[in-house]
Amino acid sequence: MYLILFGAPGVGKGTQAKILSQKFSIPHISTGDILREASKNGTPMGLEAKKIMNAGQLVPDEIMVEIIRETLAEERCKNGFILDGYPRTTAQAESLNRLFKKLNISDYALVCLNANDDEIVKRLTARRTCKSCGTIFSLSEIENAVNCPVCKAENSFYQRKDDSEEVIRTRLEVFQSSTKPVKNFYKNENKLIEINGLNSIEDVTNEIIIGLEKTFSKKELFH
Ligand code: AMP
Repeated sequence: MYLILFGAPGVGKGTQAKILSQKFSIPHISTGDILREASKNGTPMGLEAKKIMNAGQLVPDEIMVEIIRETLAEERCKNGFILDGYPRTTAQAESLNRLFKKLNISDYALVCLNANDDEIVKRLTARRTCKSCGTIFSLSEIENAVNCPVCKAENSFYQRKDDSEEVIRTRLEVFQSSTKPVKNFYKNENKLIEINGLNSIEDVTNEIIIGLEKTFSKKELFH
């Protein structure tokens, strides 16, 4: 099964992708994580991406298309994957469509998580990530905690640079103008599953699974 998790920044794509990746044993491909890793490693592409990400803008399509082409060619992606944060422009969606055709992928769907801007700003300003295991928390879940509740790493929580309120507002504008139109692309192809992202993490997961069961056969769901 090939999934695209779609929605505004902070709507819960990363959290749900991690859960679904475990449940269906398919890799979670987050373009944001790939860029942050490149930036941490100080590669020329990573350094260029870092400035763009910190400003809340989009990394150019040519770079993203190449990253995805290389990543989806990896052996681990052969039986399915969950894309988180890609495609983010119509040009990326068109390119992904061509790549899917080349890779003979037809059993895919776009899961769209919906939430309003106020809720997103609230969630993102309170978002913290464990730098050791990558688990995402809300501040209220780790208040006074020294160790990560999942991997037990000490003092490992950090706040992303682009999670300041000013940059969040820019990212939301970019989502409205450049990313939202991507949804129509999949609506026209009958590949769209709409989900209310305001519910609890568990409820959102359950709603996604119900949507997937309606869309895919059992064989497709589990390879
Ligand atoms: P995310 O972790 O998905 O919130 O992504 C963080 C940042 O990485 C975004 O705000 C963009 O600057 C950049 N980025 C991630 N994915 C893409 C993409 N598909 N196209 C362009 N920029 C991206």
